[in-house]
Amino acid sequence: MITSFVSPRLLMMGGGSIGQAAAVLAQLGLSRPLVVTDPWMVSSGTVEKLLAPLKAGGIAYGIFSDTVPDPTDTVIASGVTAMQASDYDCLIGFGGGSPMDTAKAMTILAAAPAGAKMRDFKVPAQANKAALPVICIPTTAGTGSEATRFTVITDTETDEKMLIAGLGALPLAAIVDYELTFSVPPRTTADTGIDSLTHALEALVSRRANPESDEYALRAMRLIGPNLRAVYQDPKNAAAREAMMKGATLAGLAFSNSSVALVHGMSRPIGAHFHVPHGLSNAMLLPAVTAYSLNAALPRYAEAARAIGVAGRDEGDQSAGAKLLEELSALNRELAVPTPAAYGIDAAKWDGLLPTMAAQALGSGSPANNPAVPDAEAIMALYRRAWQG
Ligand code: NAD
Repeated sequence: MITSFVSPRLLMMGGGSIGQAAAVLAQLGLSRPLVVTDPWMVSSGTVEKLLAPLKAGGIAYGIFSDTVPDPTDTVIASGVTAMQASDYDCLIGFGGGSPMDTAKAMTILAAAPAGAKMRDFKVPAQANKAALPVICIPTTAGTGSEATRFTVITDTETDEKMLIAGLGALPLAAIVDYELTFSVPPRTTADTGIDSLTHALEALVSRRANPESDEYALRAMRLIGPNLRAVYQDPKNAAAREAMMKGATLAGLAFSNSSVALVHGMSRPIGAHFHVPHGLSNAMLLPAVTAYSLNAALPRYAEAARAIGVAGRDEGDQSAGAKLLEELSALNRELAVPTPAAYGIDAAKWDGLLPTMAAQALGSGSPANNPAVPDAEAIMALYRRAWQG
């Protein structure tokens, strides 16, 4: 059997590693980066943590800081204009998943013939070409985008959050420095942490799981399970922040080489239509979707419960699976995850959009990777269950 495994060429991890940014560029033969980041990174001064080592290394950089949460095709188009305005030789995606995904999408669009649109690359298309290499530096522990072959971009004409996949979206290198996450507020810490947990869990139960992705998924869950509450309650807990950051990157490697599944498929339409942060919409769905899927892959969900640390090594699958469901509900309570209604979503708009959201979820291909494969009716029923919390 032929298998393949993708990952960045260089993955540097550890506290203070952002100080190596200029050395990493030099190692890769790069010297003229465009830093792609968001307005908060600039206004808070956080971007200086990257710019200072670049300056010290004598590197002349440009900055594009107009990225938005849940990046849109229009922002990507302006990013490409900024990128082509100078002789840059690489992009540095610096921030959460949104700036990193923006940099990835910019390099894909810039490699395409004039007139191409981001929607030309949505799955099942393969986005394999990139105009410039991308180096990712995550500041949330989180999306794992620094290690994945995906970028997620919203089509402003259709309000669809499109999954774009291919080697063009795979960063050349990533610098993963957990010290950058000390400033992440509790709400975002919880949302991004649940996102990572969801990546690892979905990679493990996916129909596209394989022995290599399983190792990364289980390792990620062993790191995330015992530390998610700790970073939420104590943002300065360095050991917990470090474990979460490593867990997020390993979960990224896991799902990049397996896949995500039904939670992500259903989560993207909630983000696109109601602007719920990505990790939070995952969290709203995770207990209901896991309950729906449990018996279709009970041994794998039970293994996840053991890796997260809520079931004993020798505990039977039935009992371990039940404990996983209890844990996911407990996490949502303790991390104050609101129901869609409590978040402020209008009930009539939610109900009215259910057929569209179900169609968009199915269209993304992710539900087909789920252990239990739903039809549109089943997806709408799950959205209704998630509404009740
Ligand atoms: P984000 O990048 O949108 O950032 C959320 C907020 O946190 C922003 O206001 C940002 O300024 C702030 N922030 C970031 N770092 C901070 C720090 N160190 N201190 C304080 N505040 C900080 O959020 P995210 O959850 O990291 O990324 C979500 C995006 O990633 C979504 O668009 C989602 O679809 C995408 N995503 C991509 C992949 C992939 O493989 N490409 C995987 C999962 C999610």
